[in-house]
Amino acid sequence: MSNLLAGHRRIVVKVGSALLVDRERGLKRTWLESFGEDIARLKEEGREILVVSSGAIALGRKLLKMPGGPLRLEESQAAAAVGQIALSRTYCEIFGRHGIETGQILLTLGDTEERRRYLNARATIGTLIGLGAVPVINENDTVATSEIRYGDNDRLAARVATMVDADLLVLLSDVDGLYTAPPALQPDARHIPLVEQITPQIEAMAGSAGSELSRGGMKTKIDAGKIATASGSAMIITAGHRLYPLTAIERGERATLFRASGNPVTARKRWIAGHLNTAGRLLVDAGAVQALAAGKSLLPAGVVGVEGEFERGDTLVIAGPDGHEVARGIVAYDAAEARRVAGLRSSEITEALGYEGRSAMVHRDDLVMDLNVDDRREAAFGTA
Ligand code: GLU
Repeated sequence: MSNLLAGHRRIVVKVGSALLVDRERGLKRTWLESFGEDIARLKEEGREILVVSSGAIALGRKLLKMPGGPLRLEESQAAAAVGQIALSRTYCEIFGRHGIETGQILLTLGDTEERRRYLNARATIGTLIGLGAVPVINENDTVATSEIRYGDNDRLAARVATMVDADLLVLLSDVDGLYTAPPALQPDARHIPLVEQITPQIEAMAGSAGSELSRGGMKTKIDAGKIATASGSAMIITAGHRLYPLTAIERGERATLFRASGNPVTARKRWIAGHLNTAGRLLVDAGAVQALAAGKSLLPAGVVGVEGEFERGDTLVIAGPDGHEVARGIVAYDAAEARRVAGLRSSEITEALGYEGRSAMVHRDDLVMDLNVDDRREAAFGTA
């Protein structure tokens, strides 16, 4: 198959525990070094790479000499506390050899599911990428309790890919792709190189098996695929155990590619436009309408009225001087702050708030210009 990484600029790579940690010997350094070289080369080509790394629990239990078998929640949390430090230190060292800084991000479920926190995490991760660092992301296992955890890093990685509008999510795991049936159970199962769309038949092929070290089986990978592809990221599942696992993908080693169902901007904008219950309205002047039409962010200076009670991160209607909706977008201020800064120039915002606010009321990445009614219906009820 052709080079599946070609044409993808922002790539989230998820690394499974089994690739990183050997039950007997601990961290697989040679593998990690080759992975680091792959990443350094891709970054030199101008790609942006984020790593979602498992392995904290597996590594911690090895370091703490905990016995095999299932762990109680607090035991796995203790293991993660020790393992995560060792993991981060290793990434830092391995990427550091190539002059790349590593940023550790530990997320809990609410950080991607609650919009306000989602925006915060997104801004931080975006800034890190902008500064050339490689974010290394894991679930914050030491504090996440069972009801409020992702539980597997496949879905966490998919949420991260959505959050950063990645072009591609790569799941490096212990299986080299999707088969017509779980190969361990049916040796004659066929490998599927390309999935155009995740249909119920595709889901049925996944089964539910996982390995001892990692939580995610094929089912969580397909769940991840649904999240990622619906929001515009393609996804690759491949076996990551070979050295230089990303080069291996480029060379055409066996993998399954799941195509994105739209491009990231379209899917994201559809997500915004698809909100049926908007939390309020921002009334803007004619100059702001023009700026929005030209693809610019909505600045507080152009806002003449604020209606409704909303939180930062809610989706609002933006209406022009005639009261008609011109756009929808995710607001960067809560209602009280928005009222305080409406009409102000950027230089006046800090004084009005008493702290440094965001320069845009609605950032252009978070804006969608008015769709006609059919588009909105499709956005709300369609598949994208
Ligand atoms: N967050 C877990 C860890 O770092 C891994 C979860 C998973 O394997 O999917 O140990």
